Formats: sequence, structure tokens, C-alpha cells
Amino acid sequence: MKMKWLNVLLCGYFFTIVEAAPAGAGPYIPTKGTFRVLAVFVQFRDDTWDHPCPSDAKKGWPAAKHAIPEWARGSKLLHPKKARRYSKGSLSDYFAVMSSGKFHFIGDVFPHLYLTPQPFAFYSQKEKRGRAYLTAKIIDWLDINGVDFSRYDNDDDGDVDFILFLFRHWKTELFTPGAGYQGISGFGFNKPIIKDGKKIIGIFPGSGTMQRGNYTLANCRSIVTHEISHFFFGSGHFSRIGSFGIHDGNAFCYAMSGYERELLDWITPREISPGKTVTLTDAITTNRYFKLKSGHGSEYFLIENRQRKSIFEKGDCVEGALPAQGLLIARIRPNVTKSSRITWVTADKTFTINDKGKAEDAFQNGATVLLEPSRAYFAQPASSATPPFQLKILRQKGTKLTIRVDTVKNETTH
Ligand SMILES: [Zn+2]
Repeated sequence: MKMKWLNVLLCGYFFTIVEAAPAGAGPYIPTKGTFRVLAVFVQFRDDTWDHPCPSDAKKGWPAAKHAIPEWARGSKLLHPKKARRYSKGSLSDYFAVMSSGKFHFIGDVFPHLYLTPQPFAFYSQKEKRGRAYLTAKIIDWLDINGVDFSRYDNDDDGDVDFILFLFRHWKTELFTPGAGYQGISGFGFNKPIIKDGKKIIGIFPGSGTMQRGNYTLANCRSIVTHEISHFFFGSGHFSRIGSFGIHDGNAFCYAMSGYERELLDWITPREISPGKTVTLTDAITTNRYFKLKSGHGSEYFLIENRQRKSIFEKGDCVEGALPAQGLLIARIRPNVTKSSRITWVTADKTFTINDKGKAEDAFQNGATVLLEPSRAYFAQPASSATPPFQLKILRQKGTKLTIRVDTVKNETTH
């Protein structure tokens, strides 16, 4: 499964996105059942960067403490065993909710911080040391300190499935291979490291990810969920999904979009046809989605009601809540290039590739939306065989939205 050209995969949501590989497939990890991972917290010894929220003793991760953050202790980040309920807001909780209980992302947080013996600059000399050198050192340290790596070979195929290296902070300066990134799927070394009879693979799709800026639980979750999205959907990004999904690469990640959940078979959208009235409850907490075929090939609209009811849409002191609240409509074109496969039909009619999402994107009670099928090419006239649809939000009760879809008669046809 390893491909040479997939040398490294870079992601950054505050920085320029660098992609080293064409859009790939996936998933590279199981998406059903129980999946056990290892999380390791790392801090550069000269990292003294702080900020009011990140330095908060409970919600943040103070630089001077030189310990793993409070929000990762016990089962607050990862639950050690499959359970019916997980600590609210944890990664285990996140994937249980997103998968409708199909995927149990559990694991161990190594209880001690790895404080680097050398300052950041020592490891940023990419020719000699860099992240490959550092992660190999940390792996040795974990091994000496009793980690049994064979616990993390879930499918028993001989390699470690997932280690999360969660760095507190490193500046945007280079930390090999030479770009500012928030997280990276891979460890930088080419030759697998063997521990406890299992291979730790450093090249994507390998044995895990590393990421910086894990100041708060929501911050950490955002980066981890994005990096893991590469193990679900391969390299490349859904570049127009913004903050309404996790696979953008340029936006804070809250909950998953309906499309991402549908791709993993974690939800099943119901089909809606013209002339029907349906009620949408909050998408994340009730798993309710509707799908309307556009009439143009395999294209469809995926309709979701995002009401920020879930803890995963509330944000924290570093990043606020999900930017929009209301009805969101995605245009899904399964056969186009990955970066444009999902786009949003927004209330303010603007959603560019640089958009992360804003309040004006969601449709509110009383709105009427014209949903037209895509044209095969720019100058092609709209086909009379596939008339557009009109979606209307008839009413709102609490967070529930009732919508009606109708076919719009083509008035130019006689
Ligand atoms: Zn990415």
C-alpha cells in the first residue's frame, strides 16, 4: 500500500497549504469497530510562548508547567477502553458521535511529557536532525519507559497503526521538511523503526501524525481530526468545505460535514423529492440529513441543519463557535476533482476557496433557495430536462427547520 511518491503530506490551517502528492484514496485505517491509538505530549524545552487562554491552568497548557495538560489526563482526551459513553468533548466522544456509534477511537495518553533535551533550533537543522531524528528519539524514550507498541496494531498486520505526537508549540519557522504546517501525517523517517516486533512507519499513510499548537482540547481536536481525515480520505483536501467539515486544510475543524460522514458510511441521508415537506433536526446530535438529486449525472445536494448544539460546534477560548447556524446546503459532485467535490450553496451567494465559513452562509427561516444542477461546461444552457428546484424554509420551531422542495416550472418553455 505504500507509495513512494507520497513522501510527505503537509497541512496547515493558519498557513499556506503545501501538498506533496496528488489526491489519493483511502481509507488507510479502519472506520468501523474499535481503534486504539497512543498519544504523546511533547514540548520543546525553550518553548515559553504563552497567551491568556492557552496558559489557563485548566483549559490551556501553561508553558512553564512542563507537564501534560489537564484536559488530557485520565480519560478526558482518550478513553482506554471501548465504552457506551465517553468523556464529553474527548476524541473518543468525537468519533463515537460522528460515526453514530460505529467507530470507537480509544487509546492511551502517555502520562509523562517529553521535554526535549535540546532547544528547538537543534532539531530544525533538517539535514542532520529534524523531525525524523526527534520522533525516533521519542519512540526510543517511550520504549524505555514501558510502552508496548504491539497494543497499537489493531488489525494485527505487523505495523503500529497510530501514534499522535502532540507538540505544545513551535514557531512557524521551519521544522523540516521546510514549510509552516500545523500538523503532518508522517514522522519523517524513511526506514521503519521496529519496536516490540511491530513496524513504526514514518511515511504517509504510516503509523500516525504529529501536530503543534495543542493548547486547548478544542485546538487539539481540530488538528487531530484534520490529520486523521487524511487517513480517511487520502492526500489532497476538500478545499471548499471550510470550517463546516474537517478535510479542508485551511480552517478550524469542528464537527464533520454530512458528506464526510456519508463517505465513511457513518450516516445515511434520506432522499427528498419535489413536492415533499420534511423537518430537519440538528444534524450532529440527531444524524438527520436529506439528499436531493440534482438531475445532472451523479450530482446531488446534501441538506443539513447545523445548530451548534453539539459540544464539537461550540469552540473554546482560542477559537469561537462554528461560524454559521442554520440550514447548510452542500453541492456534491462525486466525479469532479477532489478539491471541488463539495461546495456550499450559501445564503449570501459567496463561498470561495479561501472561505472558512461565516454567519451569512446559513439559510434562515423564510428563505427561498433556487437549486440548479451544474452545467457540464460553462457556456452550456441550462437543460430543460433538468429544471431547477426551489427549497423553502417554511418554519422554525426551536432548532427544528421544516423545509419544502418543489420543481420550478421552466417558464420559457411553451
Ligand atoms: Zn491536510
